[in-house]
Amino acid sequence: MGQYVAPRRDMQFVLHELLDVENEFKAMPAFAEIGRDLVDQVLEQAGKFTAEVLFPLNQSGDHEGCHFKDGEVTTPKGFKEAYKRYCEAGWPSLSADTEFGGQGLPHTIQYTVQEMLNSANQAFTMYPGLGHGAYEALHAHGTDEQKQTYLPKLISGEWCGTMCLTEPHAGTDLGLLRTKAEPDESGAYKLTGTKIFVSAGEHDLAPNIIHLVLAKLPDAPPGTRGISLFVVPKFVPDANGNPGARNRIRCGSIEHKLGIRANATCVMNLEDATGYLVGEPHKGLMAMFVMMNGARLGVGLQGLGLTEVAYQNSAAYAKERIQSRSLSGPKEPNKAADPIIVHPDVRRMLLTQRAYVEGGRAFAYWVALALDKSKHHPDDAVRKECDDLVALLTPIVKAFLTDNGFLCTNLAMQVFGGHGYIQEGGMDQYVRDARINMIYEGTNTIQSLDLLGRKVLADGGHKLRLFGSMIKTFVEKEGATADMAEFVKPLVALSKTLDELTKELGALAKKDPEEMGAAAVDYLRLAGHLVFAYFWARMAKIALAKQAQDSFYKAKLATARFYFGRLIHETEALVPSVRSGAGNLLALEADLF
Ligand SMILES: Cc1cc2nc3c(=O)[nH]c(=O)nc-3n(C[C@H](O)[C@H](O)[C@H](O)COP(=O)(O)OP(=O)(O)OC[C@H]3O[C@@H](n4cnc5c(N)ncnc54)[C@H](O)[C@@H]3O)c2cc1C
Repeated sequence: MGQYVAPRRDMQFVLHELLDVENEFKAMPAFAEIGRDLVDQVLEQAGKFTAEVLFPLNQSGDHEGCHFKDGEVTTPKGFKEAYKRYCEAGWPSLSADTEFGGQGLPHTIQYTVQEMLNSANQAFTMYPGLGHGAYEALHAHGTDEQKQTYLPKLISGEWCGTMCLTEPHAGTDLGLLRTKAEPDESGAYKLTGTKIFVSAGEHDLAPNIIHLVLAKLPDAPPGTRGISLFVVPKFVPDANGNPGARNRIRCGSIEHKLGIRANATCVMNLEDATGYLVGEPHKGLMAMFVMMNGARLGVGLQGLGLTEVAYQNSAAYAKERIQSRSLSGPKEPNKAADPIIVHPDVRRMLLTQRAYVEGGRAFAYWVALALDKSKHHPDDAVRKECDDLVALLTPIVKAFLTDNGFLCTNLAMQVFGGHGYIQEGGMDQYVRDARINMIYEGTNTIQSLDLLGRKVLADGGHKLRLFGSMIKTFVEKEGATADMAEFVKPLVALSKTLDELTKELGALAKKDPEEMGAAAVDYLRLAGHLVFAYFWARMAKIALAKQAQDSFYKAKLATARFYFGRLIHETEALVPSVRSGAGNLLALEADLF
């Protein structure tokens, strides 16, 4: 079954030493009372819950999968009980609004818990995760009545939620969707259509499921400007707010798939299903973006969570498994061979995982803090700046962390050799589970187009310059010492390169938009490395000062040096690739493929 122990020491390093969250919280009246004790207490409790309740169900849930019969879905053994315990412990309500029964804690804390949940059991975590997303969309765009009806139950976890966007012919391009919504005499709507790939669309964890469905009104303009959002409950709440009449939205089948097998991926058929408009007609995609942006950050945390658990298991294995002797002579002469951790390439595989998980944690928690500040900081200018930075960095969290997650789970499998490929050790599951994170919530290609097209070029580089000025401030204030040169020099060089490349692409894309499409995926990886270089340099600064204190800082410094010594050089291959332009991609006529 392997192991999972929440990496609380590293989480505390990020929260307290890198981000200084206690002081950041003090500046926000909503969180001013939250001290280090509370943060550490949540980490401890979440660490216990995820390791003791959810992790033991991860492999068994994958092997058993979900069951579908007569429109009903049964989750794997143990999931129902675990979900009950999850709700009783109050985990669904952590960062939710106190007005509707939430605990009102910052996203920064929620994200740490989310990382642990994903490490322990991604498939399980998606059930409450979608409920939380539905909560966020209704909280932002629902009517008062909708909020009173749905929010308390979504917050407590009593009811779950979904997002129903995808249709067989409409995946990335939601402008193509066909589900229609006709107004009825009661002021509600009747929805008809087929949604596919709906995660947690049907299951036995909760007595009601609140579907958020995108559909088109009869007078809808074509394309994405004609999409409206509806809340379609599985059981329509009665006058007392309890599940009432069974609605005409039903699960037609579930998918058999590569990973996250314990999460039901459902075909949902709507036949005159009763729905209620959320927000304004034809403005549904904008409303849904609240859920989608939250979900994109959430998927990034799935990539991060899987990287952590895969790293832990492969590091433990590399210390136990003995095979061959070290090139420089036996390291454990009393054994028949040395543990494989002596081999440089096994270390490369472990350190790659470690550098991506620790860099990703610093980055993701920083974004969570910026999200909190964008909503709760008393200074308008800080709120606006944080909002811009979150918008810029969301596609990077989603795509860079999940691409790295797949790379790292593969490396973890490789460390196990053949024992990673067979099912017994559980390493295959991490690879299979990690694969979906690059696809759903907008494929990673779509994230890269969002980053380069919308967040960078369409905005004249304003948001990117905000991030650039953070780097500049750090370098001027804390990077000028000789011992920081090994970290700061490549950071500054990459920042300059990305600036130049952005200007070149801006000019090229004006003449030919294909240039933007051809550059986007490489560009996102370059930007991801810039972000990681910044956070690794900041972490190195702290570790340099404290390296004599304990081995934690020694390890942090060694990992920073590995990142700057090896991983960042990927960027040197990406730059000429971007500069080679769209020509080599578009030269071949489609019928020659
Ligand atoms: C397990 C699972 C769970 C899911 N859960 C949900 C859910 O809960 N709710 C929901 O609504 N959906 C869900 N989805 C759907 C998911 O979000 C879509 O699969 C995804 O958005 C891609 O759409 P598609 O599969 O139709 O691929 P397509 O849109 O057909 O894309 C195919 C390929 O073409 C590329 N492509 C498409 N358009 C462009 C473009 N403009 N530029 C460059 N490349 C492009 C894509 O990147 C991709 O590589 C889920 C899917 C899976 C497999």
